[in-house]
Amino acid sequence: MAASNTAGTEPVIRIEGLRKSFGDHVVLKNIDFDVMPGEVVTIIGASGSGKSTLLRCINLLETPDSGHVWFHGQDLAAEHVDVNRLREKIGMVFQGFNLFNNLNVLQNCTLAPVTLKKMGKADAEAEAMRHLTEVGLAEFAKSPVTSLSGGQKQRVAIARALCMRPDLMLFDEPTSALDPEIVGEVLSVMRDLAREGMTMVVVTHEMEFAKNVSDKVVFMDRGVIAEQGDPQQIFTNPRMPRTREFLSRYL
Ligand code: ADP
Ligand code: MG
Repeated sequence: MAASNTAGTEPVIRIEGLRKSFGDHVVLKNIDFDVMPGEVVTIIGASGSGKSTLLRCINLLETPDSGHVWFHGQDLAAEHVDVNRLREKIGMVFQGFNLFNNLNVLQNCTLAPVTLKKMGKADAEAEAMRHLTEVGLAEFAKSPVTSLSGGQKQRVAIARALCMRPDLMLFDEPTSALDPEIVGEVLSVMRDLAREGMTMVVVTHEMEFAKNVSDKVVFMDRGVIAEQGDPQQIFTNPRMPRTREFLSRYL
């Protein structure tokens, strides 16, 4: 979780004045926020409010129109930024798993370390087995991913991302495609990751997770951050009427 004293510590991510549009549709504007090392930031807000686009600007899947995104103090808009290098340090977990269905569980986890990081196969497999153990799936290492449940697939996706030793993990509605009874197994893995000190930005509709696990909650409404702050404050005493209105849908 968040370091108790972050004074003088550099944020993992700093966003200032971010603006993004598609054609003449402005999707994000005046976005400012920081993610400190070890912090868990959840982003909540209605569908279409710009949550996914914001995550995609952090790992350069989208290019902002203006404003800045710094990753460990490096301005991502700078010409010389090596996008591939950067993405290796940012793990991303999507709603739809995005696993390679033609590979088994272990191969899904070792592909990027071996091909992108030039890790030896044996080392990559040993590391993958450690992460598969963490997510409770060691015994499925040789299984085809197509034989797994949605919750298991999402845990493989998390293990696969961890195999790249990311500095930051981005989650875009990781449990939205799952049956309600298996959401918990994925949230539990994410909670463990948070406890171990992983820096995480999580877009979610799981308000209990946002309230209990995050250090900071960001509420987005129609392309702006309407309110951000301490989860207890946001959930028990939101300052903005639109935050209150949004949260009332989850009661
Ligand atoms: P959220 O994740 O909060 O549901 P998104 O970031 O996916 O919101 O989308 C915000 C808005 O941007 C929506 O109106 C969506 O239709 C639009 N949008 C997202 N991606 C694109 C794109 N590639 N081209 C055009 N419009 C897009
Ligand atoms: Mg989205």
